[in-house]
Amino acid sequence: MRYISTRGQCDSVSFSQAVATGLAPDGGLFLPESLPDISRYLTEWEPLSYKELTLAFFRLFATDIEEETLRSIVFNSYGKFENEKVAPLIRLEENLHVLELFHGPTLAFKDFALQLLGNLYEEQIRLSGKSLNVLGATSGDTGAAAIHGLLGKEGVNIFILYPDGRISALQERQMTCTGADNVFPLAIEGSFDDAQKVLKEVFENESFKQKFGLSAVNSINLARIIAQCVYYIYAWFQLPLEQRGNVEFVVPTGNFGNVLAGWLAQKMGLPVSGFKIATNQNDILHRLFQSGYYEMGELQPSCAPSMDIQVASNFERFIYYAENEDAGRVRRIMEEFKTTGSYEFKNFNNQNFSSSTASDADIEAIIGRVYHKYGYLVDPHTACAFQKIDPGKTSVLLATAHPAKFPETIQRATGITPHAESLENLKKRKIVKYSVLPDKESIENFIRGRAFANLDTPA
Ligand SMILES: *Cc1c(COP(=O)(O)O)cnc(C)c1O
Repeated sequence: MRYISTRGQCDSVSFSQAVATGLAPDGGLFLPESLPDISRYLTEWEPLSYKELTLAFFRLFATDIEEETLRSIVFNSYGKFENEKVAPLIRLEENLHVLELFHGPTLAFKDFALQLLGNLYEEQIRLSGKSLNVLGATSGDTGAAAIHGLLGKEGVNIFILYPDGRISALQERQMTCTGADNVFPLAIEGSFDDAQKVLKEVFENESFKQKFGLSAVNSINLARIIAQCVYYIYAWFQLPLEQRGNVEFVVPTGNFGNVLAGWLAQKMGLPVSGFKIATNQNDILHRLFQSGYYEMGELQPSCAPSMDIQVASNFERFIYYAENEDAGRVRRIMEEFKTTGSYEFKNFNNQNFSSSTASDADIEAIIGRVYHKYGYLVDPHTACAFQKIDPGKTSVLLATAHPAKFPETIQRATGITPHAESLENLKKRKIVKYSVLPDKESIENFIRGRAFANLDTPA
């Protein structure tokens, strides 16, 4: 299987190249050259464990990785999950189910993609003999999940920038209390946007990037999307037979990575009825799916911070298919959106999608209501999925984070303080973080002092 760019201006690449590169050289995102038909494997896949299913699915995509290597990558990745089912489906009502995606090391669904990506990077280092320095900026969950995907691995350092004092105390502990000497949490003065901006500048320094083998961890890596397809298939197998065909997956959405993965699984032949995009008060995607009008607004910090985005970075992959795989049109749309901050889709294809939005007040009310009705605690992101559920449909709501990650909101909504053992253990550990100024020179100097370098020439 080869991978092409949504913007159509570079050659196709192998799976490993697409994973190593992240963003395509023409600024687009990688997608499979053609989508496999998985409908013919469903009977064969039904009895498989989560790990075996992931392996079977990845075999269709990671065709340049050997079977035994792929097996150990997959088994290592999901061996760190605390629930033996990895992604258990919980029934709240006859036709209302919750897919728990928070049993990984950092208690959020991003572990599904980043555990795997960490092991793919490790394999790449083994094959090339070249070390890597992985860089990212985070407003919380991604940084923690990326760190836990790479901590302690040979030949890789990870540097994560985050806005000091603006992420939750627990999220900070997940990044700073690892005890691993290849992890560098960089607390910067400023906002998440400042962190992203300086990171972009560092990546634009081509010689520095080459010398230190810099690699970006962000939400657009192809491997992340493919890893996330698997739990939709696995959830579908856990449903009663008569509910499978008309199930709607309800997905708390920010960068459109999670819901895109489900939609791709449907496109590959998983027979489901559709998807609901559940946003918080940052509702750019809700407005789009209602009206066809895609318009940036002002970012509003919410109590579901991992969904606080204005531009959904994976949305371009959806546009590619919605525009009949016409890369030229994708380029024009992205260009217009970049210059004007908006785009109006004529005949917008919102088939198979519905959407909702939830304010902070809605989120708190939902957390209370769900707890009183079902005795079940949901985190603020998952709560968005409970907004305006259609009782006539079979719904699978994706639970994207463990409630214990957001104790203050849960406490306010229910009077209960949720706990998770792994978070309690973190509180006993020492915080190691580095205060760095948010400018290019300071960040580069820090990296230069700590990183592996691949060449002898000074950058
Ligand atoms: C990242 C994240 C989301 C949003 O997922 P996208 O793939 O960006 O749409 C939702 N909930 C939680 C807890 C997250 O960490």
